[in-house]
Amino acid sequence: MSDVIQVAQLTKHYPGARGAPPVRAVEGIEFTVREGEVFGFLGPNGAGKTTTVRMLTGLTRPTAGGARVLGYDLATEVTQIKKRVGVVPETSNLYDELSAFDNLLFSMQLYGVPRRERKARAEELLARFRLSDKRDVPFAKLSRGMKRALTIAAALAHRPPLLFLDEPTTGLDVMSARGLRGMIADLRREGVTVFLTTHYLEEAERLCDRIAIIVQGRIVALDTVDGLKARLPARLAVEATLADGDGRTETLRFEGRSVEEATQAALARATAEGRRVLALNTVRPTLEDVFVHLTGLSAEVMLAEKGRT
Ligand code: ATP
Repeated sequence: MSDVIQVAQLTKHYPGARGAPPVRAVEGIEFTVREGEVFGFLGPNGAGKTTTVRMLTGLTRPTAGGARVLGYDLATEVTQIKKRVGVVPETSNLYDELSAFDNLLFSMQLYGVPRRERKARAEELLARFRLSDKRDVPFAKLSRGMKRALTIAAALAHRPPLLFLDEPTTGLDVMSARGLRGMIADLRREGVTVFLTTHYLEEAERLCDRIAIIVQGRIVALDTVDGLKARLPARLAVEATLADGDGRTETLRFEGRSVEEATQAALARATAEGRRVLALNTVRPTLEDVFVHLTGLSAEVMLAEKGRT
């Protein structure tokens, strides 16, 4: 597999407001994205995710460092990059008054899709994103989930091998978010490389082949989900549901260096308190545990919703 994105010492500082020190939005990050993978860029609000996407797609210039995207140098060949990648920004770039169909046609025109191919491709994209019956509805009148789906469809107009998705499920209801995750998984199966920014730990865990965790402009870890989990100290946990003589139950977590040790701790507690063990489950570490361990931040920082569309 070849590298689709190679990033070296990429840095972005914004001038500080009224004499304040500069904002170090992205600080010397390095990573590579491999062909065909879903690469997760995971971090809390303000971590530098959007700034990174904007640099890699030629919307803002790095303060220092650089990158190659699809083999092209960001500093000297940005036009080539822009032509070849698909970008789904946090806020949709489609036109409110144009219909779903016309928005797709317009995107294709922008990306230089030959005129004779545009209509068929637009119908194909509408079908694929389950929007065929909304073909003639103005963008402004679509639901939030449909808007997001159409924005992704428009970004795929020219069949890009690499798609940037900036927080695609933020602000969506559970069902729309689930539908969109399914679509992202489909893209991966088709061999599209996906660069996905998100602050949803669970989403990253489910969708991504590898994940970079970014905090305050720096990458603090980069690995597969399993690789990240392997960095947790080797403590295992069981969850035991204990019941007293009156039938009251309580579920508690017990840790140990092995499942046996954690189970022993649960049994000892039950015996000491005259309770019975009703159920016993081993607990697998989640990406949330890894995040908390690696960043020292609470997982709650990822829950802050921005409510943007
Ligand atoms: P979010 O999930 O909230 O979009 P993010 O991880 O995408 O967060 P960025 O939007 O890249 O983060 O912002 C990183 C930092 O850079 C923040 O401190 C932000 O306030 C600052 N920043 C972003 N854009 C600008 C700008 N145009 N001018 C000044 N500061 C900016």
